[in-house]
Amino acid sequence: MKAWQITAPGKIELTESASQKAAPGCVKIKILESLLSRPDINVYAGKTDAVLPVIPGGSCVGMVIESGEGVTELQRGDRVYVRPQRACGECPQCKAGKFLLCENTGIHGITCDGFIRDFAIIHSSEGIALPERIPNEEAVFLDYISIAVQTINALELTKGDFLAITGASALGIILGQVALYYQAVPIIVDTNEEYLAKAKEMGLYYTINALETDPRSKIFHITGGKMAECVAHISSSEMRMTQSLDFTAKNGKYVIIGRYGCIGELECSLKDVVNKGITVTGICNGVKSMQTAVNILANKAISVKPLITKEVSFDEVPEVFEECVKNKRGHLKTLITFEQH
Ligand SMILES: [Zn+2]
Repeated sequence: MKAWQITAPGKIELTESASQKAAPGCVKIKILESLLSRPDINVYAGKTDAVLPVIPGGSCVGMVIESGEGVTELQRGDRVYVRPQRACGECPQCKAGKFLLCENTGIHGITCDGFIRDFAIIHSSEGIALPERIPNEEAVFLDYISIAVQTINALELTKGDFLAITGASALGIILGQVALYYQAVPIIVDTNEEYLAKAKEMGLYYTINALETDPRSKIFHITGGKMAECVAHISSSEMRMTQSLDFTAKNGKYVIIGRYGCIGELECSLKDVVNKGITVTGICNGVKSMQTAVNILANKAISVKPLITKEVSFDEVPEVFEECVKNKRGHLKTLITFEQH
């Protein structure tokens, strides 16, 4: 089995190991596609607490090629999405079969091996069977979509609500589209014109470049003076929390989203939270909303493919890591395809 492994900051090497069989309760998958995400780049740049060496790639789409003893829910030939969270299999929750509530969750590509490799063995509970109508290059975004759904639920977003989103990253754009699906009105704020143009191209009408316009007064204008009932602050964005708290309406709801491995600066004054009676929630994954995310994709309710701005093969992985480190706000998302294996 072949894998790219980050062995030290700035160093990625190809490793080969003997073929393994699927253990009881597990399935062996052939990796088909994976996304290169910000956490992967941060691990490579030495900016996380990752335990090296580690195989990058937080999630993937794969094909089941072998089922271990006792596996009934997945069969050979099934296409699956594997989420970034890995259940430990040993804590009381895991032993009771409640893998989503695992007390020692690992994160693929950071605290345990990820999927930039040809084959992997996963616990059957980690693989989400994909309906035929969801192509691989859309399924790779399921983690983002599930986080978006979880955010919408936490905000109790309803028809006509304004949702200010700080960060027009892939996650921000997906969240905006999911908000539209729930008939809310997203307003996306960023400092990167290229990202904002992509958001606009993907159907988000209200975009604000915070370098060119005062975002607060623009949001004041769009919302008719009441400001946004709901605000989602993507912690890896260039925006500061003090700023996005200022976008929030009185008695509004505010969610901070931080994917493991890319949580940015979160220091701010909480005066607004008290003065305006804002409810604050933190979200780090979307595991409980994964099935809704699958349904949203299967119903073609949002579009994610335009977020892929670069495609590379397995052999080109080292070059793309190097390029992404040098160019921090470069490709929106890079898709890695494994077809030649
Ligand atoms: Zn566990």
